[in-house]
Amino acid sequence: MEPIMDKAVKILSKYPLCCTCLGRLFAGLGRGIGNRLRGKSIKALLTMLADAAIREGDQSAYEVVKILARSGWGPAQQIAAAQGLEYEKKDCILCLNKLTDENIENIAKKAAEAALRYEFKTFLVGAKIPRFIKIIEENLFSEYSLTYAESISKDIDREVGKKLEEYLGREVDFNYPELLVIVDIFTGHVETRPSPLFIKGRYLKHEAGIPQTPWLCRNCWGAGCPKCDFKGREYDHSVSEFISMPAVKLSGAIDYVFHAAGREDLDAFVEGEGRPFIVELREPRRRVIDFEEYSKLVDRYSSGKVEVKDLSYASRSEVRLLKTYLEKARKKYLAVVTFESPINDSVIKELETYFTNRVIEQQTPTRVLSRRADKIRRKNVYRLSVNKIDNYTLSFEILADAGLYIKELIHGDSGRTRPSVSNFVGTSPKEIKLTVLEIREDRLQST
Ligand SMILES: [Zn+2]
Ligand SMILES: [Zn+2]
Repeated sequence: MEPIMDKAVKILSKYPLCCTCLGRLFAGLGRGIGNRLRGKSIKALLTMLADAAIREGDQSAYEVVKILARSGWGPAQQIAAAQGLEYEKKDCILCLNKLTDENIENIAKKAAEAALRYEFKTFLVGAKIPRFIKIIEENLFSEYSLTYAESISKDIDREVGKKLEEYLGREVDFNYPELLVIVDIFTGHVETRPSPLFIKGRYLKHEAGIPQTPWLCRNCWGAGCPKCDFKGREYDHSVSEFISMPAVKLSGAIDYVFHAAGREDLDAFVEGEGRPFIVELREPRRRVIDFEEYSKLVDRYSSGKVEVKDLSYASRSEVRLLKTYLEKARKKYLAVVTFESPINDSVIKELETYFTNRVIEQQTPTRVLSRRADKIRRKNVYRLSVNKIDNYTLSFEILADAGLYIKELIHGDSGRTRPSVSNFVGTSPKEIKLTVLEIREDRLQST
């Protein structure tokens, strides 16, 4: 390896650098020194070597003195003045002379002030660096094969991070920080971004006619028109809003995203175990939620139509799980069906046997064809038990793969779902009341 001193002179002759930025080019060498001291040491030794050479009459050392003086190094400027050497003072090309203790302290103070508007236990600092400086840095690193160099952003992250830990009494977390602090030492600008807060639970829906997510008016798509009474939507409320708005209020978030394991029909109920959901709260000011208060708020806000339970905090990875989870999940439904003609008692027993562990071939239902691709799905019904309510009305408890359209399983969708209950009993349903009873947590559980 080329000696550090030779390399430093070559670099400084082309790129004026302050002590910190010069030292950072050798950051991997020696522990517990710090980049500024590294740079200072190099410049101090170069000054001493040049001074000795000049005293011995070696005029070539003037060049080194000028290079050092140009980069703002005081001791070299003194020699230059004594020797009558001329040079043009230049700002550090990497930090524009901004990387000073004072600037680091000031921006850390500003960041601490901004951070304290939020509730958080851990944080992480991210430095914003102008693009042109990153390019200069990349060129410098490769031009001189600086394998021990550290980037300026890493340097700022660490230095501001240390100060912030001191001011806030809280710790840096590289993996899951609750608050991201973005500092721009070049403009003095500070930005704070709280990471999202995730709350998971299960919801019950006690009333029909509420879509899971808001449905925009199909005429104006949200703009508002006479058809929708200028509301821009088909239904006033949605499950996602009933659940999310109280969480937004409690956390002081600016926005939310509602995630659920699948969705039920507009007019289906959700009872029993409930449907798993996660509310993602964007930029929350508060991260400690009183779950009891939250569930009461949902109850009040929805006038008892929607209920949340089994509440706890969740992570981003659980959102992904929630989405894949449904693929293999099984669901239990309660369907109360009134048929056109009376059902013979003997058929009821046969129904149960026939539909237990039965594969259903289901072509995309006509009612969702506008939104879903037309294809055939094969789903299982694991168990179907029937209770007779009267001669026309049966109540079905159905355990099936998630993704099987239950109403179509019953009415057959003009032969698009095969086999179907309607086909089996030989009469069509007049009315189907559907409730989701349970969504199984354990996807491997056998029944
Ligand atoms: Zn610098
Ligand atoms: Zn409209």
